[in-house]
This record gives sequence, structure tokens and C-alpha cells, in this order.
Amino acid sequence: MALLTSAPRGTQDVLPADSYKWQYVEKVASEEAKIFGYRELRTPTFEHTELFHRAVGDTTDVVQKEMYTFKDKGDRSITLKPEGTAGAVRSLVENGLLNDTLPVKVFYITPCFRYEKPQAGRLREFHQFGVEAFGSANPVIDAETIQVAHSILTRLGIRNLSLEINSIGCPTCRAKYHQALYDYFAQRKDQLCDTCKGRLQKNPMRILDCKNETCKEIAAAAPKVLDYICDDCRAHFEGVKKALDAAGIAYAVNPTIVRGLDYYTRTVFEFLSNDIGSQSAVCAGGRYDGLVEEMGGKPLPALGFGMGLERLILVMERNGCEFEQPAPCDIYIGSMGEKASSEAFRLVSRLRRDFGIYAECDLMGRSVKAQMKYANKIGARFSAILGENELEQQKLVVKNMASGESRELDMGEGFLEKLADHMAYEQLYNACEDVEKLFHSQQ
Ligand code: ATP
Ligand code: MG
Repeated sequence: MALLTSAPRGTQDVLPADSYKWQYVEKVASEEAKIFGYRELRTPTFEHTELFHRAVGDTTDVVQKEMYTFKDKGDRSITLKPEGTAGAVRSLVENGLLNDTLPVKVFYITPCFRYEKPQAGRLREFHQFGVEAFGSANPVIDAETIQVAHSILTRLGIRNLSLEINSIGCPTCRAKYHQALYDYFAQRKDQLCDTCKGRLQKNPMRILDCKNETCKEIAAAAPKVLDYICDDCRAHFEGVKKALDAAGIAYAVNPTIVRGLDYYTRTVFEFLSNDIGSQSAVCAGGRYDGLVEEMGGKPLPALGFGMGLERLILVMERNGCEFEQPAPCDIYIGSMGEKASSEAFRLVSRLRRDFGIYAECDLMGRSVKAQMKYANKIGARFSAILGENELEQQKLVVKNMASGESRELDMGEGFLEKLADHMAYEQLYNACEDVEKLFHSQQ
């Protein structure tokens, strides 16, 4: 029974009382991305397992420990996407979109799945808003991509975030760095966890990302990639910093960031918050100049980021940020008696269809008193009661619930137009009064 009445561990329902926060965050993120020239891409929730082995990397925590992989009924190995970039690249290559005019910029909102230990801000199904930009190696686009995230976070009212950046070099400098890391970790091999012992030969950089406490301690004193990057990568990194300065975006260089996915090259960055404990990265991303070719496309520099929406909303709640409220019910038309009730239904239907007005009527067979209570509960801005008398005299009294004032309207020719105008006028009037009150309270 418990299996029927509780959601799987690490998953979360977004209930109607909270979904408006999600709608708001998704709206702001999409709008910001659009004014930077991004267009939406939607890709499947699952992909061939091989895609993530190739893109994310065999020695990463994500692939080794966290993927939801299963055989489907046709015996194919399928994986629920643990991140958004691999599927986006697969789709753009498959559909030939990277042959288009460059840069190609896409954004997405997607569920991601990782088998992790659930805690606040760490789930097994979570959601990412992400962007990817293809075709430019110019450091200015690194700053522009960071600026997209920065604009979204700023517009959402999140203040105390820090931006940390680093460069992890290219395959040329990586070889030298790998050797240095190998030498360092090989001397301490016995103390490493079993997974990291395996990583030592194949990909020593992954040890820097291990969550094991002892591995973390050893990694803290390991050689830093910034000391090993080649001249080209250094010049690129300097270019990114200069462009960030020009954009007025504050950052700190953190030479320990390496990111948990193998595809990254050169610039990597994270936006961190102090408000969500150790789950501190709200947004993370970087460059992945080799991935498109690795996925069967032509060589094409690219970069992007993923923003964890659960963490983002958590940070906003803890910062007391405001979410745009859903619009309340415009009008509740109650009724008394069968004839009036069908007329009320006809009226609200027309208000919705012809005027786009959020209108409700009684669907529960309630008493008039209970109907008014309901109108109050749903926060209706206006209400009216239709009874035998109103039908006979063709008059309807419309009450402004905020001011308590009522106005009688003639239900003859042009009634709904008049009603809609009246409501719009009253709402404007209420808004002006609010502004006036605010003005006086500040005198
Ligand atoms: P972390 O270091 O916290 O494990 P990560 O490096 O694995 O993060 P990325 O793969 O870069 O994270 O994913 C981008 C963003 O997605 C993160 O910055 C975070 O906001 C969010 N995210 C990642 N994993 C989870 C998760 N299990 N639950 C909720 N959000 C997550
Ligand atoms: Mg992780």
C-alpha cells in the first residue's frame, strides 16, 4: 500500500499551490534566453545509454554511479537523461542544424535523473533549465553565456550568489596535467577509494571530483590545472575575464573547479549560493569544444550551462524573493434556482470564451451563502448572484469584492461588454487607489 501512496524516493510533486513558482521561473528564464537569441529545443527524456557513456564519460560519477539505465522490451539499453547537453548535441547533429548559420543557440527545460542520495536540493528526478551555444570559440561568447545565467538570476531577485570560474584547458594541455595528477595521486594510491583507484590510470582528473572524504582531502593539495594550461588556453581565459569585466559581472577565479562531466574544455563556471548547504551550485556550465565531433558532427566549439530549478526555487524561497502570483478569479456568478443556474453557466461560458475572463459559477449545488463563501475563498475580484428576480427584471448587481461597492447593470443588449468594461474600469480604479495609499504612506 505504501508504494501506492508515496512517491518514489528522491522525487517530488509540484502541487497547485506551488506550481505558479515554477511557471514564473520558467517564464523568466525562457524570456531572458530569447533576448539573447536562444530558441527552444525539446529532446526525448531517454536516449541510448551509449550516448552518455561517450559524452559524459565512463569514469564520471554520473555514469559510474548515478544513471537510470534499463533494458527496454526490445532489449535495447536505455538511459533516462542525467543531464541536458548530450541529448541536445545528438539532436542538433542528427537534424543537421549545426550546418546552419552560426552561432546556433538553443535553450531547454528538462527533467534529469540521477541515482543520488536525496537531500534538500538533491533529488533523483530534478529539472534543469539549460542553454547551449555552438560555433564560436571567441571568449566573448563565454561571457555572454554566463551573462544569460546572470540575467536570469538577477531578474528573479537572487542577490547573494557568487560566480566562480576556471579554465581546465584543452586536450593539449590536459596531457601534461594528467601526468602531473597521476604522479601526485599514484604516491597516495592506497588511501584513495576503490572507484578512484580505477580512475588513476584512465582519468585522474575525475579524482578531483570524488565525494569521498579522504579523496577530497588528498585532492585539495593536488596540482591545479590553471598552472598547466597552454598559452592559447591562457589567452582565451584572459579574454573571458576581460569580457566579464566589460559586462560588469563580478567573478572569482577558483582553480579547483573541474566539473563532473568529461566533455568540458577551457572555461568552466558555477554560480554558488550559501543558502542551500552543501548543495551550493545553482547553475553550472562551461565550454565543450570537442563534444560535437565526438558525437559524430564536424569539429565545432560550443558551450552551455545547466541551472537546477529545484535549487533555484529553494534559494529564492530562502531569500524571500517574490514569485509572480497567478491571476485570481475575475468574477464569480452565483445563482439561486435551476433556471438562474443555467443562465449563470451560460454567462460565465461567454465571459471566458469571448472576453478571456477568468469566471466561475456554482458547480456544487451550494446555498447562496455557501456560494459567497466560496467566491471569497477563491479570491474572486467581483461577484454577482443571479436569482428569479434578476432574471425577471434583467438586472444584475455586480459587487467589487475589494471595495465592497456594488453596481447594478442592465442585462439587455450589450450586457457582457458593459460588464467586462465595468470590471476593467473598477480594477484600474482599485489599482490607482492602492498607488495613492502607498504614496501617502511614504509621505
Ligand atoms: P553537484 O556538484 O551539486 O552534484 P553537479 O556538478 O553534479 O552538481 P551538473 O551536472 O553541473 O551538477 O548539473 C547542473 C546543475 O543541476 C547543478 O548546478 C544543480 O543546480 C543541478 N543539479 C545537479 N544534480 C542535481 C540533483 N541531484 N538534484 C537537484 N539538482 C541537481
Ligand atoms: Mg552531482
